[in-house]
Amino acid sequence: MKLGHALTLLAVGCLLAACQTPTQHTPVPKPSNIILILVDDLGWQDTGVAFTPEPTSFQARYRTPNLERLAAVGLRYSNAYATGSVCTPTRAGLLSGEQPARTHITDWTLHTDRDFSRKMPDLADPDWCKTGLAPGPLLLPELLRKQGYRTIFIGKAHFAAIGTPGADPRNLGFDVNIAGHAAGAPGSYYGTDNFGNGADNPWAVPGLEKYHGQDIFLTEALTLEMERELEVAAADGRPFFLDFSHYAVHTPIQADERFAPAYREAGLDNKEAAYASLIEGVDHSIGRMLTKLEELDLAENTLIVFTSDNGGYSVGARGQTPSGTGAGTHNAPLRSGKSSGYEGGIRVPFVVGYADDAIRGVTSDRLHSPGQLLDTPITTNDLYYTFIAFGHQYHSPPSIPYREGVNLSKHWRLGLDIPPRVLAWNYPHKWGPKGDRYEPFTALRDGDWKIIYWYESAEWELFHLAEDLGERNNLMATEVEKAAQMQDALREWMRLNNAQRPLDRASGQMLPIP
Ligand code: CA
Repeated sequence: MKLGHALTLLAVGCLLAACQTPTQHTPVPKPSNIILILVDDLGWQDTGVAFTPEPTSFQARYRTPNLERLAAVGLRYSNAYATGSVCTPTRAGLLSGEQPARTHITDWTLHTDRDFSRKMPDLADPDWCKTGLAPGPLLLPELLRKQGYRTIFIGKAHFAAIGTPGADPRNLGFDVNIAGHAAGAPGSYYGTDNFGNGADNPWAVPGLEKYHGQDIFLTEALTLEMERELEVAAADGRPFFLDFSHYAVHTPIQADERFAPAYREAGLDNKEAAYASLIEGVDHSIGRMLTKLEELDLAENTLIVFTSDNGGYSVGARGQTPSGTGAGTHNAPLRSGKSSGYEGGIRVPFVVGYADDAIRGVTSDRLHSPGQLLDTPITTNDLYYTFIAFGHQYHSPPSIPYREGVNLSKHWRLGLDIPPRVLAWNYPHKWGPKGDRYEPFTALRDGDWKIIYWYESAEWELFHLAEDLGERNNLMATEVEKAAQMQDALREWMRLNNAQRPLDRASGQMLPIP
């Protein structure tokens, strides 16, 4: 039964139940399976799916026919954001529903006693939560497991530091963990390198020993594991939650030779051809997933969400600027990239859909047309309440203490508006690589307006994103009233979330709320 029909039956069943005896049968739909495809460091325009009314130049570079197929029957969000500007804050936020500013998991984790942030002359990092995400009963996979879900993790975890319980997804509510651990990058994408295993290497990908020595790319090994896990889940019969978090397209930018030659022939240099091949490898995996879901008769009842954990990487291993384009960043027309408070650091692709044309299950009353581009600002933390809602078949989930985010399923299924709200980001660190304002910041978006406070220069910037997506025209001096209102909103958000600021190096004291 297609989910759309099932929902209609449920609605009819509820109406009948109100006026008939309780002994009559009310059809109950099977809970939806839930798949999250989280790509690492994938930029807003790094696929062929457009998140703007008109495609941008970078989108023509990448071949992603399978994601485009999913987007054509699903929904796209043009103003989707990662909760953090680097990996761990977003990932921990997604599982906990908690805002990184509040948990103080504000930077990427690896060691419990030190981090990799860049030293600043006058400022220092606050005492942030270097251990990362801790186990707890309110984590998303725990709540879904309690609802009878089989919970599967595949790929890059990067939830918590080496030696802590949270480093293993099985301690966070996942029944199965394949290849996830503390580190946030693969030692190598190549099976011939044993994915970095051999030497004492914290980046060595665990759990894929059967592929060691083979001529196989990491994305393909994970895809084979995904296919097998879907078969196991189908045989198991329970609904499942699959968090498929690709190591791709994070550094090292290594070529997937199944796909790289075509990009070289198209004129991309080796580095950019390798990057494009990482993306196409993920897309190929999506195609295999859709085929497998159909084979297993799971396609009609499986929600798929595709997004990234932070803005596109545009520095270091990719070079500071994209070759041959004249653009200042690989994320143009967005400004800057991963780690920055500008849009390039936080805006991400976001596609939601059912695997077949039953997106009308999500949009059961044709509230949205297939392939529609929505402009409501959303954040990856919204997936916490959204997935819980699907797990509870849209009925009210259990009482949960305050979490950031809203239940998007109400928006998809019932057309209810997402209430106006501010979205904000707090990153009191200076990321390792150098780039365009890779600096400590707090930023807040309200409607089309966005304000950023930069701690190193003690400077405010105010932008109107609808008119200035590239964030070049600072309106602090000309939009005085709006600027004051946005400053107040940012200060209030910081107080409510107990957001940390960098320390003044001379005094050792935390800087005041700006
Ligand atoms: Ca990342």
